[in-house]
Amino acid sequence: MTKCLNPDCLQVNQSQTKFCQSCGEKLVLRERYRPLKIIG
Ligand SMILES: [Zn+2]
Repeated sequence: MTKCLNPDCLQVNQSQTKFCQSCGEKLVLRERYRPLKIIG
């Protein structure tokens, strides 16, 4: 899931969704930030 970055919205969208289905804000794909390995 991807949470909307808009503080007035915070809609939880499907991870494949690129735009918030509630407010239309562009979502940052969390896949880019998902660590492939535990570092440290
Ligand atoms: Zn939103």
